[in-house]
Amino acid sequence: MIRLGLIGHPVEHSLSPAIHRAALTACGLEGDYTLFPVVVADHAALQDLLGEVRTGGIRGLNVTIPHKRTIASLLDTLTPTATAVGAVNTVFRHDGMLVGDNTDAPGFLSALRNFLHSHDRPFGGGRSALILGAGGSARAVAYTLTESGWDVTVAARRVEQARRLAREIADHDVHVIDYADLPAAPVRDRLAACALIVNATPIGMFPGIDGSPWPEGLPFPPRAALYDLVYVPRVTRLVREASADGVPATAGLEMLVEQALLSFVRWTGHTPSRDVMLNAAKYQLEAVQCCDS
Ligand code: NAP
Repeated sequence: MIRLGLIGHPVEHSLSPAIHRAALTACGLEGDYTLFPVVVADHAALQDLLGEVRTGGIRGLNVTIPHKRTIASLLDTLTPTATAVGAVNTVFRHDGMLVGDNTDAPGFLSALRNFLHSHDRPFGGGRSALILGAGGSARAVAYTLTESGWDVTVAARRVEQARRLAREIADHDVHVIDYADLPAAPVRDRLAACALIVNATPIGMFPGIDGSPWPEGLPFPPRAALYDLVYVPRVTRLVREASADGVPATAGLEMLVEQALLSFVRWTGHTPSRDVMLNAAKYQLEAVQCCDS
């Protein structure tokens, strides 16, 4: 019996149980994936769950807001990716040690490559990318893009948070701008050549589906493509508006599935079908939207 789960708060709308249960079934494995709602101050609950991974009672855990950064100090070691990103989304036991990994970064890379390829858009090569937000997922995106040769700018409402990200992420330069300055003439002109926009804020996520992180009235850079990390709803307002302006755009469900698949492989050694996991995610997404609206 393979016990898997997700630590975070809130977690009740997570698609991960559906995705991982489908993966277990597809691989012929007996097991389950449980949601563990743990608030930020509940160290005892965190320690208990990690203790279960240590003793083998739980095979692996995903980690989400608000623990992605803080959980590192409770683990024995981090993979190079988790160290470079400064955030953990996957925990497992290896050689008796508790290991923290980050599959958001390679999951994003894989999903982005497929997305750009399907629109005949080039990848990297010194092109400029704009990331909206400077939280946990922005770190994974900034790391992935700089490693792949993109020239990255991060726009954040707390500029100090973005400066910290830029300092900590890698050996590459990451430019930082104030979110409020996006429509200002010099910034707007500089971003006109931008080839990729990534939304790494939760703006537009269910239930706030009328929100968009893109400033009202600001045209999208004409040669850009847009990747929205938000995946509930399946088509966000940002994706709708960018597409209507001729900008190829997608929301983040494929990234969610890619990072889940990589976590599943770490935990079980089995590689499930991506399509099975994606279909389970789509099915669950429809159920969530239908029941909550
Ligand atoms: P996070 O760590 O809380 O970071 C969110 C960032 O967005 C912070 O910089 C935050 O700034 C900024 N932000 C929030 N509201 C804002 C607003 N109204 N205006 C400007 N900036 C704002 O969250 P996260 O883990 O990075 O997740 C971000 C989104 O990505 C979530 O919707 C999450 O579901 C999604 N996500 C998707 C995947 C996927 O696989 N598709 C993976 C990871 C995350 P402050 O710090 O100032 O609040």
